[in-house]
Amino acid sequence: MRRFTKITASIGPNCEDAKTLTSMISAGVNMCRLNFSHDTGDIQGKKIDMIRKISDKLHTPVAIVIDLQGPKHRIGNFATEDKYPLTIGQKFIFDTDPTPGDGTRVQLPDTDVMNSLRPGDRILLNDGKIEMTVDSVSPDQIVATVVRGNEIWSRRGFNLPDTDIATSVLTDKDKSDLEYAITKNPDYVAISFVQRPEDVAEVRDFITARTSHPIKIIAKIERPNAVTRIAEIAAVADAIMIARGDLAVEVPFEQVPAISRHIIRECRKLNRPVIMATQMLGTMVNSEFPTRAEISDVANAAYLRADSTMTSEETTIGINPVNVIETMNRILSYSDSDAIANPYDWSRVENVPENDWSRSVASMAYLNRAAAIVVFARDTDIATQISCRKPDIPIVAVCDEKYVANQLCLLRGVFPLYDTDLFAQRDAFNSAHKFGVTDGKIVIVDGDKISLRTLD
Ligand code: PEP
Repeated sequence: MRRFTKITASIGPNCEDAKTLTSMISAGVNMCRLNFSHDTGDIQGKKIDMIRKISDKLHTPVAIVIDLQGPKHRIGNFATEDKYPLTIGQKFIFDTDPTPGDGTRVQLPDTDVMNSLRPGDRILLNDGKIEMTVDSVSPDQIVATVVRGNEIWSRRGFNLPDTDIATSVLTDKDKSDLEYAITKNPDYVAISFVQRPEDVAEVRDFITARTSHPIKIIAKIERPNAVTRIAEIAAVADAIMIARGDLAVEVPFEQVPAISRHIIRECRKLNRPVIMATQMLGTMVNSEFPTRAEISDVANAAYLRADSTMTSEETTIGINPVNVIETMNRILSYSDSDAIANPYDWSRVENVPENDWSRSVASMAYLNRAAAIVVFARDTDIATQISCRKPDIPIVAVCDEKYVANQLCLLRGVFPLYDTDLFAQRDAFNSAHKFGVTDGKIVIVDGDKISLRTLD
């Protein structure tokens, strides 16, 4: 059984020692996500060095993803550790006064928000457990009415699903984190709370002003206005993450599966890989076994031809992160093999012109029942485009640059082979052999040359 869907593992306190990371990578991790909401600077830098070392030792390419915290809004502190009940119909005030809050008011440290809010906009607190409507806004105060009550306490999240927030996607903290992260040549930088294509452009400019290393950008889709502009955002980003945690706070949760399918469809048209994220095996934080619903969620991501699934707390703080990866690998391997036994009908790919070269490669491989597509990958472009046709046939990407092999770790069905000799000799047969395909036909793609050969 060959797994086509990649595994992105979030790295945190329970899996950042060399032994656990080695076991996780051996068990199938393709990308390691380092969340800068938690550790920063040299602490993350040491983890990056360790992952690179293990990847070299195991001769297994692994991509490093830097995930920036972004403009996540939180309320200030309350006077006591107590939880304060808020009831339907009551008024509540957010202001700029740092005095600890009570049951009627609390500080909102990010005053920028006050310039963007309008009367009637919704405010969601504590992962959407509390909902309010804005009555009035001034530069130093928001008055709101509670429409869904619950308990509130210090530093809870503050989400504004109806509001276009007119602030930069990079906070001062993000800028200093990114400044540091760039020096470690990460493969991907993930941007949180993207709202518009300009946000991606801003991060791209920040990176290119500081390095010529081709770092790729993942736009995290977790706000309703980003869902609305998904095609424009995907067009300027290199990849998309469906960040279902915050997304399910900002849109009605029943819409998340439909939005996910929509994002995957849009990204396929634009040749952009997609990561399905959050709570995939969430109960494994405390359990050795996934729930039936989690097994189905992971499998459905494979059937939808997502490029990667992602672990969150189940690996960062879970009781057995290696078991989580083994479990995810087991579910994806079975589901992918089942999907491959009933191959994807490439001819139904929406909005990809019939004369598109990547569609021709996929159809040539499909009609000839090719055992593999061998691509000589100077960069990630060709393998990415073929992968986005979802041919359900392995794409062996022979690379002569390590970073290209690492970046291709995200792509569905792409198996990067870092081998400078095979690349220099354009040796497709031995590349296929090294991958484990020894007979049958292969499609070879080298630049704009496409050919079909039978293995000896
Ligand atoms: C999410 O919200 O689903 C997510 C992946 O982002 P973070 O873990 O940074 O909150």
